[in-house]
Amino acid sequence: MLLADPRARSMTRTSAAHVSNFSKRGEPQVSERIGFIGLGIMGRPMAGHLVDAGNAVTVWNRTRNKMSALVERGESPREVAARSDITITMVADTPDVLDVILGSEGVIHGVRRGSIVVDMSTISPAATREIAQKLSERGAEMLDAPVSGGEKGAIDAALSIMVGGKPEVFERVLPVFQKLGKAIVHLGEIGAGQVTKACNQLVLSLTLLGVAEALTLARKSGVDPAKVRAALLGGFAQSRVLELHGQRMLDQNFEPGFRTRLYHKDMGIVMETGRSAGMPLVGGALAAQLYQVAMNQGLGEKDYSVLARIVAGLGGGTGE
Ligand code: NAP
Repeated sequence: MLLADPRARSMTRTSAAHVSNFSKRGEPQVSERIGFIGLGIMGRPMAGHLVDAGNAVTVWNRTRNKMSALVERGESPREVAARSDITITMVADTPDVLDVILGSEGVIHGVRRGSIVVDMSTISPAATREIAQKLSERGAEMLDAPVSGGEKGAIDAALSIMVGGKPEVFERVLPVFQKLGKAIVHLGEIGAGQVTKACNQLVLSLTLLGVAEALTLARKSGVDPAKVRAALLGGFAQSRVLELHGQRMLDQNFEPGFRTRLYHKDMGIVMETGRSAGMPLVGGALAAQLYQVAMNQGLGEKDYSVLARIVAGLGGGTGE
């Protein structure tokens, strides 16, 4: 039911941006008109925060019934961009971003000179640079601003946002980012945000693999993996991955969270980034292959911590 969902509730408030410089929560408003394309697990609460803060927001989602009747809706990404000073995209993969920005009804056909497109999806850095080049030929600027923090970070407006693009464009969009996240870092030119996100996924995947192997080793050696997790949390092996995903592995709770299908996509981006930089990613390749195994076993809709099940299988067990 749409209104029972906390993310949905936040989409039902109408904007007061035209009458006040401050939202009901007393925060300064962004005077620029915002477009938001992609209302999935992440995009929906993010767009909701911008509406809640009293900004003028126009949304578009491919599946139309995910758009609330009480917010401005565009007929297409093109129309959203035509109505917006800052257009945010939050869709799944590189081909999807290419579609919503460069496709026949894409953002590029609606953008005005001086407007900004901000892609917050996790996609290829090389494709990001190509899109930015095409937008610049239309007089529009682009930032890449992928995020970390998951669904909870999106709901709590506590995302880590990794931004690439011109510094003056970053400064203009910063008040918008501040409605969505806490750690907001400008990392360099266009594509730098996506490279940073690839680094993030590399560290995450290898940490996850280490945790999965350690807990499986403990179980196979006759030591309680829950006690091993607790012991390791007090020492140098402590990490958020051990804490949160280690617990998921112990509970065999692989409901997403972050879908394996999307993580598999991210590991492809990691490997592509390594190849284009001439950097062998030995650990990354291993993790990428294991995510391929997870996909082949039909686990794409499970949380990415389901890697533990693959590792347990290598040990001849099920992880239970
Ligand atoms: P999701 O729930 O699967 O939502 C994907 C969104 O993209 C939906 O709105 C979907 O529209 C739209 N979309 C997909 N393909 C499209 C296309 N060809 N044309 C138009 N719209 C399209 O994904 P999510 O979890 O929100 O993730 C979004 C992005 O954030 C991904 O790049 C992901 O890697 C990244 N991310 C996710 C997490 C996480 O924990 N979930 C964390 C950090 C970063 P429909 O509703 O019509 O399907």
